[in-house]
Amino acid sequence: MALFRRKAEAESVESTPAQSRLPLVSRRVYCTVCESDRDFSPCWRRVGYPTTCSACGLRFNDLAKLYNQVLPACPQCEEPLEQPGFDYGTCTTCGSKYEIMEGTKPTLLPNRAQRDTMDTHGRARRIR
Ligand SMILES: [Zn+2]
Ligand SMILES: [Zn+2]
Repeated sequence: MALFRRKAEAESVESTPAQSRLPLVSRRVYCTVCESDRDFSPCWRRVGYPTTCSACGLRFNDLAKLYNQVLPACPQCEEPLEQPGFDYGTCTTCGSKYEIMEGTKPTLLPNRAQRDTMDTHGRARRIR
């Protein structure tokens, strides 16, 4: 399936090339929160490393250290970070954010509320 790429002219004005999102066509992906196939929109490809946290606004000083982790996350609020070259999408039904890879199940990037819920279900989380 061909991906239709288009330049987000309006977006590129505001964001620097180092932290931009390339818009992709919406996809139909299995949402593990809804437990069924859902339309994902918007979908985008991360271009370059994010320099600030999209959730809490923290400015990242040491990207190399952050991205050495298997699952990079904001050191302040633990928001999962997008990785360059990967595709992401948001479930239009429940608003969950996923990392989407062709041919594999999408990986949920839980927001704060979802991370808190996961704790109560005993999902893997770093122990301090
Ligand atoms: Zn954060
Ligand atoms: Zn969903």
